[in-house]
Amino acid sequence: NNINKDGENYLNTFVTVESLDNLEKQINESQERYANGTNKKLDGLPIAIKDNFTTKGIKTTCGSNILSNYIPTFDATVCKKLKDEGAIIIGKTNMDEFGMGSSSTNSYYGSVINPWSKKGDQNELYVAGGSSGGSAAAIAAGYCMGALGSDTGGSIRLPASYCGVVGYKPSYGIISRYGLVAYASSLDTAGVLTNNCDDAAELLDVLVGKDTENDSTSISFGKDILKEYKNKLSTKTIKDLVFGIPTDYLVKELDPDILELWQQVVSEIELHGGKVVAVDLPHTRYALPAYYLLATSEASSNLSRFDGVRYGYRHELHSEDVGLGLKDMYTKTRTEGFGEEVKKRIILGSMSLSRTQYDNFYTKAQKIRRLVSDDFKSVFGNQKVDVLITPVAPSPAFKQNQKLDPIHVYINDIMTIPISLAGVPAVSVPLKLSKENLPISVQLVSDRLNDDTLLFAANLLM
Ligand code: GLN
Repeated sequence: NNINKDGENYLNTFVTVESLDNLEKQINESQERYANGTNKKLDGLPIAIKDNFTTKGIKTTCGSNILSNYIPTFDATVCKKLKDEGAIIIGKTNMDEFGMGSSSTNSYYGSVINPWSKKGDQNELYVAGGSSGGSAAAIAAGYCMGALGSDTGGSIRLPASYCGVVGYKPSYGIISRYGLVAYASSLDTAGVLTNNCDDAAELLDVLVGKDTENDSTSISFGKDILKEYKNKLSTKTIKDLVFGIPTDYLVKELDPDILELWQQVVSEIELHGGKVVAVDLPHTRYALPAYYLLATSEASSNLSRFDGVRYGYRHELHSEDVGLGLKDMYTKTRTEGFGEEVKKRIILGSMSLSRTQYDNFYTKAQKIRRLVSDDFKSVFGNQKVDVLITPVAPSPAFKQNQKLDPIHVYINDIMTIPISLAGVPAVSVPLKLSKENLPISVQLVSDRLNDDTLLFAANLLM
């Protein structure tokens, strides 16, 4: 069932593909419902799921060796909601291990290839972006109408921009995290990748809701998102919106094609009567280091559950292991089960949470998080901006064989991370191709729980 093996899917989009028998069964059931008029909201629509959402009876690996044999006994709330509305789950998409990465090259199951790469030319293969690279590639390749992704610091928006699809990270809390394997719980957000904003709104409509039973951080959205979105589309225009341009995002690393697109979008908006103002988000430059301390701290704690005892991969005993104890089993299991990036982050997170370093690192990073969040509050509150426009990443997709140093890789996230720290919603909107024929996008950001306005604005630009 793994289409990686038959050589057909050179994109390496999926870790697991649903069996043909099961797909056929679901399609038949859906056709029956259409025939007798009992069809549901998403009946018959093919959806892919990032492999860090638990799926009952279907392997859920998080792109890691440590979960290579893990078959959950329960569905994540979002998967259950999709199934209950008749969606057909076609498979589990490849990703950076536990969501740690920006290019989907940190997977135990190999790198995801960007569908915009020239087929067959090994030197022309581009990264899909990460960590939801499999989900983004699945949409770009036309395998499905929607895909679930998760976004902790940009993992939906960045791959969406590299693959030229819509990638939407909702307000933190409006979608249940139950069954989304935790990376950094205070930032992890489930969201969707689609071809357009209408599809994103339709999916959101199914996915939102307070999960009283299973996720105490989830909240009620408080309005009918789809209705509000459609209502705005039919009654409002670009003239009703105030767009903010954060000058702090004008970084020296910005690719000329992306800068040009950003400027073009602003001129187009002004041409059509929208209001554009320059705004300051003064703490932007502290967001990246704060994020990498907070995310790794939470990860070091969350990932402590993978010890080879309860579930997942366990070090296989060999004759040389005779006499070793339980702790050695933990160590060997985790040494073999986790990849390099994950280990690096567990060490960094443990350091920042340690008794002697806690106040210097973790506490300080939390304070920065508040300042970054207050920047957004001021722009959306006092300055009455409806939607911010920024680039998604400093550059379009880079080549698979391009070796980047770790700092450079982390810098890819500078434009998505502040938004994650603030918990506000954002969407990556594909608009153009660069001179190298690679998709480039802008990121729109709105105030918390203003997701309907956000998707409406994104629709206007597309
Ligand atoms: N690239 C960022 C990281 O590695 C964000 C990843 C994500 O959003 N899951 O932490």
